[in-house]
Amino acid sequence: MSPTDRAPLLTARGIEKSFGDNHVLRGVDLDVCRGDVVALIGPSGSGKTTVLRSLNGLETPDAGVLELDGGPTVDFAAQAGATSTGWFWNRTARRTAAANRAALRDRSAMVFQHHNLFPHRTVLENVVEGPTQVQRVPRAAAVDRAEELLARVGLAEKRDAYPHELSGGQQQRVGIVRALALQPDLLLFDEPTSALDPELVGEVLTVMKDLAAEGWTMVVVTHELSFARQVANQVLFLDGGVVVERGAPEHVFTDPAEERTRRFLDRIL
Ligand code: ADP
Repeated sequence: MSPTDRAPLLTARGIEKSFGDNHVLRGVDLDVCRGDVVALIGPSGSGKTTVLRSLNGLETPDAGVLELDGGPTVDFAAQAGATSTGWFWNRTARRTAAANRAALRDRSAMVFQHHNLFPHRTVLENVVEGPTQVQRVPRAAAVDRAEELLARVGLAEKRDAYPHELSGGQQQRVGIVRALALQPDLLLFDEPTSALDPELVGEVLTVMKDLAAEGWTMVVVTHELSFARQVANQVLFLDGGVVVERGAPEHVFTDPAEERTRRFLDRIL
């Protein structure tokens, strides 16, 4: 891989988020380079999903900065403070922030815990919806790409099936194809296997491993520590809204520097 391939795609600095009195994120920093697979691990409630949702604008942090590809930057503290700095700056700051947030959102795609497929549309219609409606891709091109992607995850013959006719693992694979069809720079996965029966987890993890091997840039919230260990090149352990430990999997899993990381791994492994 050439050095330019390792250029930062997304940088997050000092991300803060509270829900009412619940201070959920307390200054989270994250660097995602092209081709990275970043695993966010940690106890339930530690803030992993909120970090992920902050990266694509599903959640609005109270403070912090996101920078995409050295280009659009969103400074959430400035955005929040804009209300007190006069109508012109206020309006301009809000417009810039909104445009930059849209750029972040457009260049990423999220795979959710529950696949969120439209129940009354076929697999193919679910996949072409985003490209044709949101990105204005011509239908024939969107269908070609959808068929190619469905074939890649072993679901070519399911193109005309409805979601309820598929197993949970197949539904989640369609969820992944739907995200891929948007041709995002960054794939975000929010516990993509945690709602599945144990025997269906493997087929979804296999697809994710293949994507990683193909060089997709991925941030994955997961309880599947063996997946994180095998596939991620960067692991962040969160606890109480802070990144307690980060590094290569062999460091975090086999030689953690922090007692909190060790206790978490002892409980889980
Ligand atoms: P994790 O993914 O590590 O389990 P989350 O990011 O989902 O953690 O949640 C962190 C904390 O934020 C939890 O206490 C959760 O209840 C709270 N939280 C998350 N989303 C919301 C929300 N939309 N409204 C209120 N509280 C929320």
